[in-house]
Amino acid sequence: MINLVNVYRSFDGIKALDGLTLSVKKGGLLGILGPGGSGKSTLCKVACGLVKPDAGVVFVDDVDLIRADPKTVRRIQARCGVQFQNDALFEHMSVWANVAYPLQRLTDYSPGEIRAMAIERLATVGLAGFENQMPSQLSGGQRRRVALARACATEPEILICDDPTAGLDPVTSRHILDMIVGIRYQVRNTVVVVSSDTLGLLSIADRVALIWDGKLIAEDTPAVIWQDQRREVRRYLDDAKLPIRRPSWA
Ligand code: ADP
Ligand code: MG
Repeated sequence: MINLVNVYRSFDGIKALDGLTLSVKKGGLLGILGPGGSGKSTLCKVACGLVKPDAGVVFVDDVDLIRADPKTVRRIQARCGVQFQNDALFEHMSVWANVAYPLQRLTDYSPGEIRAMAIERLATVGLAGFENQMPSQLSGGQRRRVALARACATEPEILICDDPTAGLDPVTSRHILDMIVGIRYQVRNTVVVVSSDTLGLLSIADRVALIWDGKLIAEDTPAVIWQDQRREVRRYLDDAKLPIRRPSWA
């Protein structure tokens, strides 16, 4: 369970999170929507203790991430898998070594076991046979899948995916979201997914939060969010309803 209460965080006077309160139930899949710069990435980092809020409370299970000692924070972080907004792959390491990295850092498995596990995770995301390639040899969608395989390498209890579909074509985007669902059923973890693929996210999430200017605008089931008639919600969702917009000259 992740619990954020009244969280504030500014960068150089700009409020990235402005009194945000949000919780994710154990085993739930929370989708996060919101325009660029609304605080989604900051929220992801705060939820796993990578960014400290200026004020507020962040709980993961019964651990207060802000007040806990560094060792306890690291113990919680070891239970979180995070896929960052950019792939953040290690370019000098092969695909399998990228996926093996968290296993080497956080588990006591032997090198042989770790290699086998990394290869298995790659197969889960449809990248069997790509183990020895370098990240630079892969397409954007394939890189995203490596990042996903790495984020869930240790079968983390909490999986946080920050815009895993950014910049992908609609088909690849849905593919990535489907893989997150598949991993969730396998590992039974708590999942937070940020995505600008609004329809895709609404179709996989249990609950959806809409963030705007660091504030929570709406949080509910996809069906309720979809019907929400408030202007600020419609302003965001009506764009999503028109995946193909008629150009002005047509
Ligand atoms: P989103 O992921 O929704 O696009 P972010 O959480 O990345 O939003 O950013 C929210 C706001 O905080 C933006 O105005 C962004 O420029 C600012 N911001 C985020 N991280 C930093 C940082 N490390 N340094 C300076 N400004 C930041
Ligand atoms: Mg972001």
